[in-house]
Amino acid sequence: MTIRMLSVVAAAAALAAACANNQTAAPTAADATQFLATVSDTMKRLSVEQNQAGWVQQNFITDDTEALAARMNQRYADAVGRFARESARFDKVSVPADQRRELGLLKLALVMVTPSDPKEGEELTTIMARLESTYGRGKWCADAAKPDACMNIDDITKVMADSRDAAKLRQVWEGWHTVSPPMRKDYARFVELSNKGAREIGFKDTGAMWREKYDMPAEAFTKELDRLWDQVRPLYLKLHAYVRMKLHEKYGDAAPASGPIPAYLLGNIWAQDWSNIYPLVAPKNADPGFSLTEILKQRKMPPLDMIRAGERFYSSLGFAPLPKTFWERSLFIRPMDREVVCHASAWDIDLEGDVRIKMCTEPTAEDFTTVHHELGHNYYQRAYKDQPVLFRDSANDGFHEAIGDTIALSVTPEYLVKIGLLSSAPDASRDIGLLMKRALEKVAFLPFGLLIDQWRWKVFSGEITPATYNKAWWDLRLKYQGIAPPSPRGEDLFDPGAKYHVPDNTPYTRYFLADILQFQFHRALAKAAGCTSPLHRCSIYESKDAGSKLNAMLSMGTSKPWPEELEVIAGTKQMDASAIVDYFAPLDKWLDEQLKGQKTGW
Ligand SMILES: [Zn+2]
Repeated sequence: MTIRMLSVVAAAAALAAACANNQTAAPTAADATQFLATVSDTMKRLSVEQNQAGWVQQNFITDDTEALAARMNQRYADAVGRFARESARFDKVSVPADQRRELGLLKLALVMVTPSDPKEGEELTTIMARLESTYGRGKWCADAAKPDACMNIDDITKVMADSRDAAKLRQVWEGWHTVSPPMRKDYARFVELSNKGAREIGFKDTGAMWREKYDMPAEAFTKELDRLWDQVRPLYLKLHAYVRMKLHEKYGDAAPASGPIPAYLLGNIWAQDWSNIYPLVAPKNADPGFSLTEILKQRKMPPLDMIRAGERFYSSLGFAPLPKTFWERSLFIRPMDREVVCHASAWDIDLEGDVRIKMCTEPTAEDFTTVHHELGHNYYQRAYKDQPVLFRDSANDGFHEAIGDTIALSVTPEYLVKIGLLSSAPDASRDIGLLMKRALEKVAFLPFGLLIDQWRWKVFSGEITPATYNKAWWDLRLKYQGIAPPSPRGEDLFDPGAKYHVPDNTPYTRYFLADILQFQFHRALAKAAGCTSPLHRCSIYESKDAGSKLNAMLSMGTSKPWPEELEVIAGTKQMDASAIVDYFAPLDKWLDEQLKGQKTGW
């Protein structure tokens, strides 16, 4: 589900002192052109090396390949960090608009800027490595005398998904949250140091720097997110109330009939995706009547055929077939003879069309969808390969994830009939089952996708201090998600650290945006394809009109502010969550019927 491209995790500042020497004469527009040429060449060269090392490391995990990949990552990050600092020289030079945008993007290529003081820089790098390994090595041991029974995050995830034993779920939930308290002190220091680095290149704090990437003032962007959430909140409240009712039927007193839902009962350690509890909330008589997983298994569909089916989808939209190198160099199945990272990902190795996917494909409905999703990244990467190096990225970071998911929304029963996997599509009376399943994934995720950075932005700005880290976290989870912990969580704990993206320092708003945008894209492209069915029954398969619209936007890369790129597909410069509400309209109506007389909210 992830992508690898020009993103930068960290930048060391060892070379920062060097740029001071260049500031004797006032820089000119010609200097800026030359600077950007050097930056582009260097970034491209180093990112190819980084991608190659990363690819080999993930396809052949050993201590040595890990060391090589880490070295390449550091080299790349060091170079971009240095360039970002140097670019400040051109802040007051008059340059063409494209170059101004390139210089701006260069400054924002960093998720974290290390302070120029070498001692502080080193301290920050050490803290980040420790935070990541505390999470990565995190284990919960129910019984210290039995180390073999200790659980890592994969084991925890499985229990949360499958167990229906409330006491056990609570124990495992509390267990995983014992991994993060040791991160608390490191996290507070990380905030201080990374803010210092961000201020050195002209931002108020690290959170303000993250928001600057969205082509609008930070405050205006925060308001945009609130507006989008308000559009979809009524639907979330109904889903929340209905799920709460069903959980109460199942678990009795452990799941109160009113108020917030206990955080450990939703099938996922972070309560961010509720699809695992579908069997507990499944609408009666609305089973879709088929299982794609069963069909794929019965047919013994080889992984290669699943990927070819994905390629055929994009070809049907008018995209050129994938290059020969894609088929020669990708990883499609789990190798028997070595350790690999199986988490599905899409790669753009040379930024010139050497695109690949890496996934351990199984004949399941989930992987069938994942193929369509990952290929979306690859077609995006290929579409913008002729842009200047600094523009070879998505319109904003929400767009890259949204594209693959947009295509996955077109994997409808009708599409499966067209490609011969299903003999006939179930009738409309079965739609509620499909929609419920999808809502437990996509609608349930939205408040979670929003609140992670609500917390972090306030932490970076100082509005939330270490004295209230945990309280502020749970206030937000209550406010947005309507969930609560099983017992009071004090400031000796550090519950945000139990979510990977916090210790790993990956911005999270992109996932909220992708969730909103994919439905907006789907609605616009379905219209271009002339679909007149309800939105959830529309597939853009075989529509050249939808394909050319899509390609027009993809090929722009990040050369223009995202509202202008959004307009190319959606005909508007505003993000619009009403498409989600449209998509789930039949479910919304059905929820009204189920909830008659029940109070929503908490
Ligand atoms: Zn993805």
